[in-house]
Amino acid sequence: MILQVLWNTLSLNVKMVKCKKCNMEDLVWDMEYNTNTGNWRLWNPSTEMPHKCETAKPPKPEKVVSCPHYPCKKKMKVTKLQEHIKTEHLGFY
Ligand SMILES: [Zn+2]
Ligand SMILES: [Zn+2]
Repeated sequence: MILQVLWNTLSLNVKMVKCKKCNMEDLVWDMEYNTNTGNWRLWNPSTEMPHKCETAKPPKPEKVVSCPHYPCKKKMKVTKLQEHIKTEHLGFY
């Protein structure tokens, strides 16, 4: 089986590559994915997951909500709301 031999040769010569988009190192090309789909993607052997660029998506802007306490109704980020309620409204939601 020529393909099997070729596969073994490729597997033995797995080269570590660096992602050009986010500069992450120690990745390999996903041969199996290429065999199945004809497309190339990078594989991260340390997480055993397909590599996803760290910088590919910009972080989502945080949602801003208004305090549920009347008449406060201050607008703030969701992550700040709990702290605000704790300190300004004595922990009552
Ligand atoms: Zn990347
Ligand atoms: Zn409030």
